[in-house]
Amino acid sequence: MDNQKKAQENSKDGAAPAQAEEKKLIDFAAIDSKWQQEWQKAKLFESNPDEKRQKFFITFPYPYVNGAPHVGHTYSFLRTDSEARYKRLKGYNVLFPQGFHATGEPIFGTLERLQKGDQNQIDTFKKYGLSDEQIKEFAKGPEFVARFWMGKWTEHLKQAGASIDWRRSFITTQMTPTYSRFIEWQFNLLRRKGYVVQGTHPVVWCAHDQSPTGDHDRYKGEGESTQEFYVIKFTLEDGRIIAPATLRPETIFGVTCMFLNPDTTYYNVRVGADTWILSADAAKKLADQKKDVKIPKEGFSPRELFGKKCKNPVTGTEVVILPATFVKTDHATGIVMSVPAHAPADWATEEELKKNPKMVTEYGVDAAVLSSLKPVAVIKVPGYSEFPAKDACDKFKIKSQNDEKKLEDAKHEIYKKEHYEGTMLAISGKYENMKVDDCKDQLVKDLRAEKKLDSFWETTGEVVCRCMNKCHVKILENQWFLKFSDLEWKADVKECIGQMRMIPEDVRQQFLNCVDWLENKACARRSGMGTPLPWDPEWKVETLSDSVIYMAYYTIARAINEKKVEAKQLPDAVFDYIFLGIGDHKELKSITTLSDKTIAEMRKEFLYYYPLDLRNSGVDLVQNHLTFMLFHHTAIFGKEHWPKGISVNGYVNVEGEKMSKSKGNIIPMSDLVQKYGADLVRINIVASSEGLSDADWKTDAIKSYRRAIEVLFETAELLETLPNTPKPIYGRPEELLESKVNSAIKIADLAYDNMRFRQAGFELVQNGIGAIKSYRQHKESTGEKYNQKVLRACLEKIVIAVAPLLPHVTEEVWHKMGNQTFASTEKYPAVEEDKIKPELAAQEDYVQAVEEDIRKIADVAKISPKKITLIVSAKWKQEELEKIASDVSAGKPFAFDVKMKELMAKDDLKKVAPQVSGFLMSVGKKVHSFSGYKKSDESAILESKSAGIGKKFGEATVKVVSEEDAAKDAALSKKAEKAMPGKPAILLE
Ligand SMILES: [Zn+2]
Repeated sequence: MDNQKKAQENSKDGAAPAQAEEKKLIDFAAIDSKWQQEWQKAKLFESNPDEKRQKFFITFPYPYVNGAPHVGHTYSFLRTDSEARYKRLKGYNVLFPQGFHATGEPIFGTLERLQKGDQNQIDTFKKYGLSDEQIKEFAKGPEFVARFWMGKWTEHLKQAGASIDWRRSFITTQMTPTYSRFIEWQFNLLRRKGYVVQGTHPVVWCAHDQSPTGDHDRYKGEGESTQEFYVIKFTLEDGRIIAPATLRPETIFGVTCMFLNPDTTYYNVRVGADTWILSADAAKKLADQKKDVKIPKEGFSPRELFGKKCKNPVTGTEVVILPATFVKTDHATGIVMSVPAHAPADWATEEELKKNPKMVTEYGVDAAVLSSLKPVAVIKVPGYSEFPAKDACDKFKIKSQNDEKKLEDAKHEIYKKEHYEGTMLAISGKYENMKVDDCKDQLVKDLRAEKKLDSFWETTGEVVCRCMNKCHVKILENQWFLKFSDLEWKADVKECIGQMRMIPEDVRQQFLNCVDWLENKACARRSGMGTPLPWDPEWKVETLSDSVIYMAYYTIARAINEKKVEAKQLPDAVFDYIFLGIGDHKELKSITTLSDKTIAEMRKEFLYYYPLDLRNSGVDLVQNHLTFMLFHHTAIFGKEHWPKGISVNGYVNVEGEKMSKSKGNIIPMSDLVQKYGADLVRINIVASSEGLSDADWKTDAIKSYRRAIEVLFETAELLETLPNTPKPIYGRPEELLESKVNSAIKIADLAYDNMRFRQAGFELVQNGIGAIKSYRQHKESTGEKYNQKVLRACLEKIVIAVAPLLPHVTEEVWHKMGNQTFASTEKYPAVEEDKIKPELAAQEDYVQAVEEDIRKIADVAKISPKKITLIVSAKWKQEELEKIASDVSAGKPFAFDVKMKELMAKDDLKKVAPQVSGFLMSVGKKVHSFSGYKKSDESAILESKSAGIGKKFGEATVKVVSEEDAAKDAALSKKAEKAMPGKPAILLE
């Protein structure tokens, strides 16, 4: 782009056009590519073992290569890169590699959607800049697609200034045979150690792929798992079984009727020797959960059942079968047993039917049966009436069985209350007085023994596979599972979590919870791409299982890639030696053609870089990938090689809105970089948030960052023109500049270390660069001489400290200042503690605030003042405010009446009662804004600055008086009462 065009571009969304014309414009694109080339030439980010230096190994989870990076990835990735850059400044030998993930269903899913002509998928690819021809080329197959997107990812990360050691890149699956070999070693080892077991378990299943569907093979429903419902077998007169499914079998004693959906078809399904009545979906699901399930071709309308009765197998009571449209036929068995006393939906439905008998009579049911619907209380709950469901319906104002959202909330509340606090009533016979939870366990055991109860498995929420098929639960027999339920294994993982650094600290508990609830997990699938299980090659290691220890592979990937090591040269024994130190590398000669020098080199590199120091990713990976990583590491590696740190971040919004396809706000990262240059994109997203809060891409925020970058360039240019005098001026402005810059780099240092980039950005840009700007403004407005030495030292400090957030422009400014080294690998500036003077900065802020107030008043009154009178608040106000502020910060609330009474007890204040009352009212309005208030000599500060203030307002004369003195002057006394501590009253003439 030439400069002319760039100027227009800049003025559109950045500096005002008038300014833009005067300024020399920064050519971000040229600066980006210049330094990216220089870094590459200097191999700046290639890391090799160096025993003299401490290492820091940091990673970002390898992305799926079924698309290019967008603004969401930009946040997590650039946080990782910023931290890597910070650690380099702190002197570490930083290893930051990047691989790519092709395993599993994502790429196949993408291809399948393309083949079906899915417009959404086509639009997404077009958004990433692909032509119709390029999309057509994807017909070449999954490997082509994977490599294509791997190329794009690499290109786009480089354009964003990623500081990656690219020599260590690879892509998963058999596209990298040595990596596949590594995964075989991992699984052989896990199996040998008893962590991979064969078993029969419920799994979330895709019938289309005939495969378990792990979290990352899902289009929808990440984090959903399997859940057991209980089927209680009610019998019809003809022996058929009505099979309601419930999570609350203990409410069996309060069933009043049975609900079936009138608008669907039910089936007489043979289950062993029984015949169960089930919805079509339920029948198909059950066939995947039980042996010997036969589904007839023809179903029937439930209308023939309405009005008939079925027998409760526990109480022997006969209950009527009724129509209810709220019954979901694609959830559980499609039949609901009504317990109006304890289920809000059932209460609401029965009430509705009683009020509108037509709802049953239109299905040929005699309205008289409705009078038999009488709630039966089963559970007693403290704080509720006999029928808790009625209470909940009243509370949530539920009118109909179709008030879905309110019913959900009511259900959750009642369920929780009854589960934790409820006890069984006499109607439950031998279960009377039992806690609900205990009763449930015992009852299930008893009824199962009597063959009155069975199980039905359902997903906890909707799960859709990447192939767009809806998933259900299948009981998978003799399949390979990771034994995550193993208590000793869990204990190891908890030990590991206990030793780790977690950023932010809040996520530690999330990890511990996740370890607790994890059950055995299927580790292989049938479809998609991946490494076959070495001992059962019909199955492929699934995507969340072949992506958990590859950080170790990075340490040897350089040697493998450079020496073109082949998979066959890496039998298990070689990996055992490199990663576990088992055996002697000289003895490996008999089983591999790999030289013992290469093997020793790989071992050395692994020992140098491992363990992993920090892995940064989005918080959505805590519940799966990140926890699995810890499980696998503790199973495979020695304790000294367990991961040392994890940092997670929130999600990404765009202009305050969640990203979604329908909103069209998923912006490709390369679009942003092309439009704004890498650095503005980096700082604008990385510094927009921290902790677990969501980040926000706000285009508007870029302006202020661009202005800050301009200040860096302008100051570097200014320095070229300033003489380096032997005895430069050193006064208050210099003192203040050094104080602010040192304070900013000090706070930013700690913030960087804790991945708090919002704070680091704020300190360095607002306070650090802001101080340089104010210093120059002061010198320009007063005509004072610059201190070249101080300004140069401060600019250098800020440039290096802000380099992790603005790597390209800082490199440019650094060289503009005559430096020959790379800013990217300089040392983080040392903080000169003795130069940090908080009171100085506070005074400066105070004077600035006063100046702003003067300006506001002058603007409103539309005058240019000749005389400015500043009235500093009375001593008693300052003293009382200091007391109030200290009380409030000690947790004592501010109460006007109490304080007024207290002050009126003082003789001197009694005389000025109206002023005291006015003062307390002003304080009360925003008492917390005064937190930490300490009185200061405002008069002295203002006196010392009065000349400067006057200069800023057209050489006006400035007079400072105390409120006490002003009170004696009739012209000032009224105004004087308004003076508040820290906020003088102002009179302009
Ligand atoms: Zn599928």
